[in-house]
Amino acid sequence: MIVLGIETSCDDTGIAVVKDGSLICEVRSTQEEVHKKFGGVVPEVASREHFKTLLPLYEIIKEKFSEKIDVVAVTVGPGLPGSLSLGLCFAKTIALCENVKIVGVNHLEAHLLACLLEYRYPKFPTLGVIVSGGHTEIILWSGWGVYERIGWTVDDAIGEVIDKIGREMGISYPAGSEIERLSQSAKGEIKISRLKMEGYMMSFSGIKTAALREFRKISSKEDYPSFALGLQNSLFSSLSTKIEKVIEDYQIKEIVLGGGVAANGILRNKVEEICKKYGLGMMVPSPKFCADNAAMVAICGYDKTLRGISDDLSLDYRPDWKI
Ligand code: ATP
Ligand code: FE
Repeated sequence: MIVLGIETSCDDTGIAVVKDGSLICEVRSTQEEVHKKFGGVVPEVASREHFKTLLPLYEIIKEKFSEKIDVVAVTVGPGLPGSLSLGLCFAKTIALCENVKIVGVNHLEAHLLACLLEYRYPKFPTLGVIVSGGHTEIILWSGWGVYERIGWTVDDAIGEVIDKIGREMGISYPAGSEIERLSQSAKGEIKISRLKMEGYMMSFSGIKTAALREFRKISSKEDYPSFALGLQNSLFSSLSTKIEKVIEDYQIKEIVLGGGVAANGILRNKVEEICKKYGLGMMVPSPKFCADNAAMVAICGYDKTLRGISDDLSLDYRPDWKI
């Protein structure tokens, strides 16, 4: 089965082909440079960029891969309405012209299933941890297509905190990889308070406020690395505490990490330590598949098609779609 995946939920445009569960080719175009000067993604600008980019990317894919496709998989939510509608419109056009099926994909399910591009299917029950620009969610993945959202942030997502603090530090959007790079030369750590919240739910706005307070006390750029380290340790240790709680409460066999922030080495190491401590398997995509991409959409579409799920051309976009 050949699946063409299309991703346009936020500021990255991507198209990919997955054949029988393996990635064949992939193209993507990021709008980072365009949004940099605004300090974050401007929805109208993002839509316009997708509009300009989709067709040229599709032409590149057609040059690389000429076999007939069976399914078009497209992200229909969650995401920016304008961006989602452009990707969906493009996907419908292809489905109509090629006379193939269409399947709508949840962007967060795609972040979780990105692991299938490089790993086998996990052993259930699996703990899915999605850490991205707009979401921080703990998912109990207990079977093929069976997900239960058991914990999420009630305010800021971890990626959002990192980007907001980054802006304060003069780092352009998105700040995650630069903050990680800075922390690699830290000689000490500026401690930032951690999350104190019962249960599986999370809140990161308190850490953001505490971090801003600490940042304003800094008098020299020399302290930026220690601050960057403290910020990441606070955010990721808070998340790790929740992960351990779920492991202790459920019979978890593996952990799957996904989302743009999952590219972070400090987070990956913390989760790896947890997996060693509890004797669990761990599946984390390569950094390039943590960031938004269409390969994860295509593999998710492949998985859904195998499960017998498909949509028709009345498919609508769902900006607030929960996993
Ligand atoms: P969502 O997936 O919630 O809809 P999104 O698609 O905009 O949001 P992603 O592209 O999945 O988000 O992730 C982007 C986020 O990942 C940004 O906040 C960015 O700063 C962060 N990020 C990227 N690389 C790293 C890194 N190495 N360390 C920490 N954060 C990172
Ligand atoms: Fe994403």
